[in-house]
Amino acid sequence: MATTDFRARLALLTGPSGVGKGTLVTRLLERHPQLWLSVSATTRAPREGEQDGVHYFFHSRESFDRLVSEGGLLEWAEFAGNCYGTPKRPVLDKLEAGTPVLLEIELEGARQVRCSFPDALQIFLAPPSFGELEQRIRGRGTDAEAAIVKRLDRARAELEAQQEFDAVVINDDLETALGDVERLMGLADA
Ligand code: ADP
Ligand code: 5GP
Repeated sequence: MATTDFRARLALLTGPSGVGKGTLVTRLLERHPQLWLSVSATTRAPREGEQDGVHYFFHSRESFDRLVSEGGLLEWAEFAGNCYGTPKRPVLDKLEAGTPVLLEIELEGARQVRCSFPDALQIFLAPPSFGELEQRIRGRGTDAEAAIVKRLDRARAELEAQQEFDAVVINDDLETALGDVERLMGLADA
């Protein structure tokens, strides 16, 4: 089985909440429609405008636990009071079809993928400063204060783990960060 090629097409982006992962991934997909972004399962409530099956598959805790016990997730973790996980089958199908796959997941999930797919490219997106991260997460206006506090607390632990990743990209200027990610993924124009 050509597992090396198979695994080499998997890339993963991790970084603290509010750093700009979603913003960067949206731009990346616009510019490289051949990329496939995995849609995660979560127990978090939908934010305004989020659609089931598009932004996430929204689950009750009970049905999420069932996914876990059935072995349906490639990885999963608890983050700021909710569970998040990557549905396994669609990722394997895309990889088998030769489609480049992108996961946008938090630190614990990235660590699990590091074990199951050691050849996957792991990119950490970091903010220019902690103050800027806080401004972004508050400026986004999507989370209640209690959730923001949990996310900023978790951000400190995530930032401390950045050296575990293959590369760290600082999202100061978005276009520069996008170019850096494109180069790392081999997507940049010649
Ligand atoms: P994440 O997906 O990592 O939680 P988002 O993509 O939702 O983060 O971005 C959080 C906020 O930061 C959004 O309001 C977004 O517009 C803003 N943002 C993203 N990248 C930048 C950047 N390079 N400079 C300034 N603001 C940014
Ligand atoms: P949010 O609630 O802001 O959409 O996501 C919170 C965190 O969960 C982010 O760091 C995001 O990367 C992470 N996340 C989203 N989907 C998954 C997933 O499938 N698995 C894991 N481990 N984390 C995820």
